[in-house]
Amino acid sequence: MGYGIETRCCHGVTKIVEEHSFGAVSVPIYQTATFAHRGIGESTGHDYSRVSNPTRDELEQTVSSLEGAVDTLAFSSGMAAVSLALELFDGGDHLICSEDLYGGSVRMFSAVGERRGLSFSYVCTSDERLVEAAVRPETKALYIETPSNPTMQITDLRAMKALADRHHLLLIVDNTFLSPYFQRPLELGADLVIHSGTKYLAGHNDTLAGFLCVRDKGTAERLRYLYKTVGNCLSPFDSYLTLRGIKTLAVRMERQQANAMALAEWLKGQRKVEQVFYAGLPEHPGHQVQKGQGDGFGSMISFTVDTEETARRILERVRLIVYAESLGGVESLITYPLLQTHSDVPKEVREHLGITERFLRLSVGIENAEDLIGDLAQAMEDREEGHGEIAGRTDGEENQDEV
Ligand SMILES: *Cc1c(COP(=O)(O)O)cnc(C)c1O
Repeated sequence: MGYGIETRCCHGVTKIVEEHSFGAVSVPIYQTATFAHRGIGESTGHDYSRVSNPTRDELEQTVSSLEGAVDTLAFSSGMAAVSLALELFDGGDHLICSEDLYGGSVRMFSAVGERRGLSFSYVCTSDERLVEAAVRPETKALYIETPSNPTMQITDLRAMKALADRHHLLLIVDNTFLSPYFQRPLELGADLVIHSGTKYLAGHNDTLAGFLCVRDKGTAERLRYLYKTVGNCLSPFDSYLTLRGIKTLAVRMERQQANAMALAEWLKGQRKVEQVFYAGLPEHPGHQVQKGQGDGFGSMISFTVDTEETARRILERVRLIVYAESLGGVESLITYPLLQTHSDVPKEVREHLGITERFLRLSVGIENAEDLIGDLAQAMEDREEGHGEIAGRTDGEENQDEV
């Protein structure tokens, strides 16, 4: 594929005029469950949409092209992709995971993986020695998120690849936070890349999607067999929405990163802000490693403030930035990991990671950067007024339904 990544995002992989009906420039939505056979043994190449569908095919091939995969499978959500990845393992197998993992993945591993007889160790994968020390005879894989969620720690993927090779482990990377526009783990030796396509790839806070991008043919064939068997595939319409989102991936990622940089710098200068976690800041401990393994730093920022009251006040008062879970879309969102994304993570683990009542996570969108700064500034400033209730108490009783 000779074209640059921006071109591949925009044009996908088919030759429009020859391959789409009537020369449609936009990929048609093949809203069909099944496909007619002209005669015995005369399949059109598609038989039933759980197995394959032309709209989803186009999406899968486009994502393969962006990640450098031999095959990509598109799922109804990111968690559906994580769930199928677990099917590669048998009872007794052990996986080593980044300790600072998406809360839903931690829940999947404990509620589904452990019941199937798998075991998981959570270590700080930024420290190669800790990973090495966690390897057991039954260890089968490393499961990495970098930057991690929500404390934005960077893991050195080349070091993880070398370690995986020494111990014959599969290297699995959840690449949701940077997307293939900024980081392509398969090129650095990973075996499997996972995405919540709900986030940057689809990019508009309007659809769920998930992906498994596979490096080798054998694993791809195994996963394809499981995929058609389990049936957690992406619908034709959601495949179309995700393809439509990917067309602008490159411009969105650039703009969101520029906004994130401006916000991170501004946050650093605020009296009520204690610490800013953003890999794009030169003082971030993983900054140099990220510079060497990706093309950018993305647009996820976490920060801590002076008091719980300030944190709650910000969540209550933001007008433009939306207080909501999720990330990666064009609209900026602010999240309270303690009560939202990470409320299922055990308390000791949360405390060890520093996910306290003073910790906030920001997904920076494509708005005007000054408007975003202005919104945070007005939300943070001291002024006389009563504080309404936001998100209930922190003792866990009034948590939202965790996603
Ligand atoms: C959101 C997310 C997931 C889960 O994806 P869904 O599309 O919400 O099912 C997995 N990993 C990371 C890093 C995420 O941010």
